[in-house]
Amino acid sequence: MATLTTLKTCPMRWAFFVWLTLSMNAPGGLAVEPAGVTPNRAPLQPNAFNLLPLTSVKPRGWLREQLRTQANGLSGHLDEFWPDLGVNSGWLGGTGESWERGPYFLDGLVPLAYLTGDEKLIAKAQKWVGWTLEHQQPDGWIGPTKNTDWWPNYVMLKVLAQYQEATGDPRVIPLMQKYFGYQSQHLDDRPLKEWAIYRWQDEVLSILWLYNRTGDKSLLDLARKLRAQGHDWEAQYADFHFQGKTEKAQASLSSHGVNNAMALKAAAVWWLITGEQKDRASLYQMVAALDKYHGQPNGVFAADEHLAGLDPSQGTELCAVVESMFSLEMDMSIFGDPAWGDRLERIAYNALPGTFSSDMWSHQYDQQANQIMCSLAKRRWTTNDPDSNIYGLEPNYGCCTANLHQGWPKFVANLWMATPDHGLAVVAYGPSEVSTLVAGGTPVTILEETDYPFRETVTLSVKTGQPVKFPLVLRIPAWAAGAQAEVNGTVLGGAKAGEFYRLEREWKTGDQVALRFPMPVRLSKWYNNSVVAERGPLVYALTIGESWHKIKQTGPASDWEIFPSTPWNYALVIGGDTSSFEVEESPLGQQPFSAEGAPVRLKAKARRLPEWQIVDDSAGPLPVSPVKSTLPVETISLVPYGSTQLRITAFPYTQH
Ligand SMILES: [Zn+2]
Repeated sequence: MATLTTLKTCPMRWAFFVWLTLSMNAPGGLAVEPAGVTPNRAPLQPNAFNLLPLTSVKPRGWLREQLRTQANGLSGHLDEFWPDLGVNSGWLGGTGESWERGPYFLDGLVPLAYLTGDEKLIAKAQKWVGWTLEHQQPDGWIGPTKNTDWWPNYVMLKVLAQYQEATGDPRVIPLMQKYFGYQSQHLDDRPLKEWAIYRWQDEVLSILWLYNRTGDKSLLDLARKLRAQGHDWEAQYADFHFQGKTEKAQASLSSHGVNNAMALKAAAVWWLITGEQKDRASLYQMVAALDKYHGQPNGVFAADEHLAGLDPSQGTELCAVVESMFSLEMDMSIFGDPAWGDRLERIAYNALPGTFSSDMWSHQYDQQANQIMCSLAKRRWTTNDPDSNIYGLEPNYGCCTANLHQGWPKFVANLWMATPDHGLAVVAYGPSEVSTLVAGGTPVTILEETDYPFRETVTLSVKTGQPVKFPLVLRIPAWAAGAQAEVNGTVLGGAKAGEFYRLEREWKTGDQVALRFPMPVRLSKWYNNSVVAERGPLVYALTIGESWHKIKQTGPASDWEIFPSTPWNYALVIGGDTSSFEVEESPLGQQPFSAEGAPVRLKAKARRLPEWQIVDDSAGPLPVSPVKSTLPVETISLVPYGSTQLRITAFPYTQH
């Protein structure tokens, strides 16, 4: 009777029951065994955490809705109407675009398709990847024969590795072996050029992926050759010259925002081969320099094509957002520093959604932390065009249109990683479910139920066919002072903000871990002594009334200018603490990253600041705080950065 009551009132327990029944009925225990990890082979350094094969982690809750929104938006339809991905693409055997756009699209489409299980998207992924698998040249070259640049193949190799993990397709590994053999023979007479010089680490990732599966040591020689021909990122940051907004005359591929975002993994990837402390230290040096000279409240650095300084009216390209995320996912895996999880969440939960329309049908090229108007106008970008901050199909240049798709799916895939001692680690939080092998081969599934980052609590529920001992390692965010962990209702001590918290015990089906990360409002200091309101991993921004004007239609996609319909030039009134902020929560709907669907609002006190005016269609120079204003105190509403299109994030402040 008690069991029946439980089943009626608790859907999750019902799911356990069904799962257990299926498991017990299937021969050998489980119907489908999840795949295990492939650790680094000697002489490579071991990763702090090993990546789980693609499809081990699936999105749940609002994150599944977010991936559905993405699939229903540009990502699921772009190839149906965008000429660069049409049937004439060189990556489908046509005579059209034959450079980076096909691979960029697939780098996000493949994980999106297999994480959502969307049959239509899986069919598209198979068609595109299948062409490359079936059209390798006899000498080993892959992709369109009219392309002679190594760079787009870097991206395709990342695609192929993901595809192999999701499908087990036996054609992938022999194709990669043959391609790397070809490249080893030809790199001396056809050395890296242009983009390929600056992005070498992204191919080295794929080389090491293959090495871990084959043990062919000639691959490590190829990796060294790429590094030798590639840009020395460590030297660039040991003596860093880009200490402000890059002038046009100084702009080069080494000041290029996307190159720098991709290079955020260069030192870590290279450390796997060298094991040298200086490589490890270089990553920290790079992040510190980017933060000091170009850091933005949304977690990324300003680069409106080139490194652009600290002013929150400068922009950051969408490609730099998604590439920073992927780099940080690799850094987390290699070095296991919880700080990389904090940074990854800050970008994923702020900069990423903040640069899309809520239906993910339009995106920007450049987003601004202080973004009061999205219009066709000359702004103070380093080199970008007047359409760079409108929401559209391909504002400024189509790289982001092709490359935007990887952000959410790779983030989901890397929320969980494997510990080297055969357990599991949560490196970033979000509703998800992980299924993998632990403790040398025992299948386990852990369901992560949460409305994080909008709420403070996370519940992990374990399912396993038999009790099994393994470590469960939990990242405690650096902002989460007073974090609490419970196992099956018993409060445990020892969880410290900014560290990993390790629970090693015998786990059985029904075990639950409950986490609470207190999220008081915090204020951080930015450019010209401005303040930013934060709560948990979310950055909050002023909601500005938006007036959308359609300026172009391309198939089902539209381009929009957005103009402010309410005032934006406020200074926050803060008396030295955050006591004047009120937190209002509302139910989490289908699109939390939308103005109307924002599940948290902060009410704050503010005064207008008349001298802060529009300059070049952007918020003009940010007044140095503290400021003075005699205008009346008003109550303003802040919502998560990702729920806004127009916003003020970095505010001047007044103490009265
Ligand atoms: Zn781009």
